[in-house]
Amino acid sequence: MQQHNIISRSVQVDPHTKLLDYAPFIDLLDQRFSSDAKEIFTALLFIEFDDLAQFNDVFGFNTDDRLMLQLSEKLNLLLKSEDVLAKAGDHQYIIMKNLSASENPKELAQHIMHMLSEPFVVDSNMFYINASIGISFHPLDGNDAYRLIKTAKNNMRHAKENGKNYIAFTPHRVAFSSYEKSVRIMGDLPAAIENEEIYFVYQPQYSYIKKRFIGAEILARWRHPEYGEVSPAFFIPLAEKSGMIAPLTVKALVVASKAFTLFESEGIDDFSLSVNISPVFLMRSTFYKTIEFLMEQYPLSGKNINFEITEEVLMKNTDKLKQTFERLKALNIGIEIDDFGTGYTSLQHLAYLPIDTLKVDRSFVSGIDKDVKKKTLFKAMVDMSHALNIDVIAEGVENSSEDRIIKTLKPTKVQGYFYSRPIHLDVLVEKLKRD
Ligand code: C2E
Ligand code: CA
Ligand code: CA
Repeated sequence: MQQHNIISRSVQVDPHTKLLDYAPFIDLLDQRFSSDAKEIFTALLFIEFDDLAQFNDVFGFNTDDRLMLQLSEKLNLLLKSEDVLAKAGDHQYIIMKNLSASENPKELAQHIMHMLSEPFVVDSNMFYINASIGISFHPLDGNDAYRLIKTAKNNMRHAKENGKNYIAFTPHRVAFSSYEKSVRIMGDLPAAIENEEIYFVYQPQYSYIKKRFIGAEILARWRHPEYGEVSPAFFIPLAEKSGMIAPLTVKALVVASKAFTLFESEGIDDFSLSVNISPVFLMRSTFYKTIEFLMEQYPLSGKNINFEITEEVLMKNTDKLKQTFERLKALNIGIEIDDFGTGYTSLQHLAYLPIDTLKVDRSFVSGIDKDVKKKTLFKAMVDMSHALNIDVIAEGVENSSEDRIIKTLKPTKVQGYFYSRPIHLDVLVEKLKRD
């Protein structure tokens, strides 16, 4: 790979600025990302400089070219031999930076900004040049040249909006410093799903009317040999990006089928299990076939199973979604809209789609005892749902004071630390048998 960089550079560099041209740069990226090497730590830095052509009018012909030349020389001094600098547009450059595990591309961006804080000199005139830099990461921001460049460019625009000499990067749910961790976790996911490092816990859901637990949500957990407990809030987005969300969900469904078998043998009936279904998986062409296969094979048909699907999915293609939901319903799967209230679902959608349950987001529940507005909103959601014959779950009830208010608003079920934290299957079974 490194050798290829050098060849490309010597062959197709702009003789004037010593920069690699854009087309061979893209080829280089494509080759790099199509390689089988799993852990290619790479960042792209998209840099846009001030339009230097303006100086030509005042300081004479070619001032801009001479500035550009100095600029690329100074940039090259900041790069390592395996990094590649290319011209992306009139006054736009792009850098492909090889990242070693401990490296942070933001440092290079800062070095560039520092370099720009010193004046450039042409014919004893001093110039200051400004720039905006956007950064993207492989594989967090994408697996191909197109996506990575697009993200870096978008981030550059974002930087520009924030003022001159600004650096921006995608606000991943992971912190900058954990870039390396994210990439490693991504690589470790397949094996962790295969072996028992990734497992599932159950958070019970309580019915005020029946005065007992009538269901549970299945939540993924990962005990990583090196990093310890890794939160699903961290690894689910990575699983979505790396394509591992499908096998992870399959595992959740297989686990659910085993739990149902255990419930039966323990005499526990009238109990539902809810599995989180990522919109990324739901939108795949293979989604329905996979589910149909599992329902028949494991067998999950006839079991009281629900799919929790986040509200964001409702903003996508509604006709296709309706078809998918209807096919799931035909398999006897309940449809719950997760994190409800955080998106922008229109009421029309709710009436149009075959939805069984709205799971009202924790943000409406926490502090409902102290905030009349939250109580009003929650009540409106319950009233609306009941009018549409849809059930409501309140999520994230943490204390008795919240519970007291929620109870008066009559949701179908409640879930939260006040009732139980997510627990292991054997603990759940003991709890249910005591009821
Ligand atoms: P979610 O689906 O909204 O799940 C509820 C999260 O809130 C869980 O966090 C749960 O432990 C937490 N929670 C429950 N009650 C309370 C409470 O009273 N107070 C507070 N502060 N939190 C409460 P967890 O298990 O860390 O999961 C985070 C997210 O990860 C989930 O949010 C879900 O989006 C995703 N996730 C977890 N497991 C899976 C899975 O198997 N598949 C998919 N696709 N996503 C999953
Ligand atoms: Ca959920
Ligand atoms: Ca939720």
